[in-house]
Amino acid sequence: MKYVRFSDKDKNVKYGVIEDGTVKEITGDVFGDHGITDISHKLDGVKILPPCLPTKIVAVGLNYRDHAEEMGRELPQEPRLFLKPPTAVIGNGDKIKYPAHMSQRVDYEGELAVVIGKKAVHVSEEEALGYVFGYTCMNDITARDLQAKDIQFTRAKGFDTFAPLGPVIETELDPDGLEISTYLNGVRKQYSNTSKLLFDVAHLVSFISKVMTLLPGDIVSTGTPEGVAPMKIGDKVEVRIEGIGTLTNYVA
Ligand code: MG
Repeated sequence: MKYVRFSDKDKNVKYGVIEDGTVKEITGDVFGDHGITDISHKLDGVKILPPCLPTKIVAVGLNYRDHAEEMGRELPQEPRLFLKPPTAVIGNGDKIKYPAHMSQRVDYEGELAVVIGKKAVHVSEEEALGYVFGYTCMNDITARDLQAKDIQFTRAKGFDTFAPLGPVIETELDPDGLEISTYLNGVRKQYSNTSKLLFDVAHLVSFISKVMTLLPGDIVSTGTPEGVAPMKIGDKVEVRIEGIGTLTNYVA
């Protein structure tokens, strides 16, 4: 099922599911007991919001072989983790603010994002997918010049608007064989398959849960394939993942 977070015409924020081109409101807790109501909205009559409000975004670096090679880096022996702040999250259709006061090179990174559904502490790889609510698209926007300059990734990955997420959370999906692509101004720049992840979703969720507690709504972003490149102001960037949809943003 495809879940969306949206605001209605009275600006009330709700969750719903997409059915037959409409959004049907749900009752209850999206990550707990909930039901689907008969209250529906036309898709073009609501504003789609970021699909969740994570307490943290745990991102994974160098998790595709071809991307590690293009960066001239050795393959990691364990998942390479960093955090993006929740204040970086924006939704489908929102603008990425180019931080021209500090950076002259800002790249897209199309990624499969895992949305956690249940509190996960020290879960095994076998149990890990049971803690996942669903999957969405993420663009791990990166100030590449600052990433090279700083030892830490915090500034390069942490600017406001550097974590576009959405448009929906798909809950019925096998994460291990999905086509993933990124388009810049309509031209395909990245094209891969999640079967090529060095550390797959179950491994990542288990590994991270042995470091920090994962909470409902938290995001694990699984890394980007080859083909990263800079964007400029005015560009349109799209991350497309099979079975989920297209996350579209504009650089401003
Ligand atoms: Mg990344």
